[in-house]
Amino acid sequence: MSNLNVSFEFFPPKTDKMNESLWRSFNKLTPLRPRFVSVTYGAGGTTRSRTHDTVARMIKKGAAPVAAHLTCVAATKNEVDDVLRNYWKSGVRHIVALRGDPPGGAGEPFTPHPGGYENAAALAAGAKKIGDFEITVGCYPEKHPDSPSEAADIEMLKRKIDAGATRAITQFFYDNQAFLRYRDRLDAAGVKIPVAPGIMPVTNFNGLRRMADICGATIPGRLVKLFENLDDDPSTRKLIAATVAAQQCLELADEGVEDFHFYTLNRDELTYALCLMLGVRPDLSLQDAGEGAA
Ligand code: FAD
Repeated sequence: MSNLNVSFEFFPPKTDKMNESLWRSFNKLTPLRPRFVSVTYGAGGTTRSRTHDTVARMIKKGAAPVAAHLTCVAATKNEVDDVLRNYWKSGVRHIVALRGDPPGGAGEPFTPHPGGYENAAALAAGAKKIGDFEITVGCYPEKHPDSPSEAADIEMLKRKIDAGATRAITQFFYDNQAFLRYRDRLDAAGVKIPVAPGIMPVTNFNGLRRMADICGATIPGRLVKLFENLDDDPSTRKLIAATVAAQQCLELADEGVEDFHFYTLNRDELTYALCLMLGVRPDLSLQDAGEGAA
């Protein structure tokens, strides 16, 4: 029996096909008894009602504790507070409080909305005034691109903790050493909350390289080499991606990491396999109960 905690991130579906994939994955993964599952929120409220509906349906299913993401970029405090109150009314008791990327996209300069929460720490404090939410926040082993230094970035995480955050999830990374050094720096800075590595298996390597560039995540040279010339070979790419993700998780577990957050992209196969490899086994009685569509 594993003593690891896992959590799974989903996004609100846009089409019938995506809807099917989400609920199939949700039904397959929840018997693994995740610490929680979460649903993303489009920066600026672009998925506001879809996130809300998905979260409400997950809560109704009762298969796992549910966390709703919320961003504060490009919104007034009143607008964000309304979302928080609606979450609370629908039974949401856990939020993933985020600033969000600027409307021009990640990498563009960020300007807080004049009447809004200026960052995730302010959002977390605002949320606590509306309800006693459990609060999870994001953090950055390789430093957030907007941060002047690693130390300033950790200070920002501490401000989020002071505002009520009790758990953090990292930006995706592929260099485990970067995460382990970050864990040491957090330890030295007196950060005591659980910090789960955000595991994002590679799907489209070229897309990932662009995203990693914007987020400041390093793609190690050995990964670049592994995915070289595989653009037209999806089955080999898939096998390598699975092996790379498994190596990453097992190495982190060997280093004593106990909390893992999976960016599932609404797919269950690889995340499920990774959990089994980590020793997280499904409760088969829940698997039967979870069958069926949404
Ligand atoms: P913050 O922590 O508020 O700020 C980011 C960084 O900017 C800080 O680490 C700090 O270095 C610097 N900073 C900010 N304010 C100050 C200040 N006053 N003084 C000094 N430095 C400051 N985006 C979405 O749109 N929807 C989602 O659902 C979503 N889910 C995510 C889940 C996870 C686990 C993670 C890690 C990210 C997610 N994101 C999501 C992306 C996130 O919105 C972006 O990474 C965004 O650029 C930063 O959000 P944050 O909450 O970390 O911001």
